[in-house]
Amino acid sequence: LAQELEDYRNLEAVTTDGVRISLCGNLEMESEFKLAHKHGVEGIGLYRTEFLYLGRQQPPTEEEQFEAYCSALDKIGGQPITIRTLDIGGDKFVAGLNLDDEANPAMGLRAIRFSLQEENLFRVQLRAILRASGRGPVRIMFPMISGVAEIRACKRILREVITELEQEGLACNPDIPVGIMIETPSAVMIAPFLAQEVDFFSIGTNDLIQYFLAVDRGNQHVAYLYDPFHPAILRALKMTCDAAHAAGISVCICGEMAGEPLYTLVLIGLGLDGLSMNPSCVPRVKRVLRHVSKQQGEALVEKLLQLPTSKEVSATIDQQMRVLLPDLF
Ligand code: PEP
Ligand code: MG
Repeated sequence: LAQELEDYRNLEAVTTDGVRISLCGNLEMESEFKLAHKHGVEGIGLYRTEFLYLGRQQPPTEEEQFEAYCSALDKIGGQPITIRTLDIGGDKFVAGLNLDDEANPAMGLRAIRFSLQEENLFRVQLRAILRASGRGPVRIMFPMISGVAEIRACKRILREVITELEQEGLACNPDIPVGIMIETPSAVMIAPFLAQEVDFFSIGTNDLIQYFLAVDRGNQHVAYLYDPFHPAILRALKMTCDAAHAAGISVCICGEMAGEPLYTLVLIGLGLDGLSMNPSCVPRVKRVLRHVSKQQGEALVEKLLQLPTSKEVSATIDQQMRVLLPDLF
């Protein structure tokens, strides 16, 4: 089986009816690049920058970050990298960045909220990312956007930083693709407005499920309610994909859901253009992808949207996968 999966490394990620799906890797540590190569990713769909800030008292300097991003570009050999700005707070803590104790950190000063509040820190990161965009194909992505004003504020600061770099004669890509994570219910509900503001969406299902279902993603007591195929989640994914495509932008998933082969057909049917996952999941997902059609996915989604409970949703998916891929499920 291992050898068979290895063989998928060099095959295209394409469905039986010819739809290309981009399969990328999520990285949160420098050392994971080897894995990404081994499993044949088409780029880094989510580069989590938190690790650069971990285990130290001072945040990384512009130069340190620039070097890390350039080294990432080198290691992935010219493939595109989507760098997410700092996603601190919530379940992610960093010593040295003084986050106050909050009664409800998941809904507190985290991710883009923190960056917009600590604007100097944010600008240092933007400068480093933009300078790396002068070296290779870099996209920038902002986490936990919950309204249009936030993305507009990010874009305004980004513009200012680009002008600054140009005045200093430092190379950067002034047309760097700008995307947002869709991981709050408000972002889903106003996805058509948000899609007017950016070049791509990336759905963070880990948080999206937490916030949509009001279930703490790290709380074992309510883990049984943390349910990727709750009918509300299916609808949220559908709304987000439809809004992206109506505006002519691409949409991918970079939450854990993207790497689960049982979900692949449904995700294709929902219209996802790309999936970004732990690199070791890529071969299994690609194997499913190459055995099914988008049309089968769409038919399945149509059926699933009629179902009132996740139990029925998952039973229907299970049954369909057993029919289509009896050897795999
Ligand atoms: C997500 O929320 O799905 C996501 C990819 O971001 P993180 O897991 O880093 O919060
Ligand atoms: Mg998240």
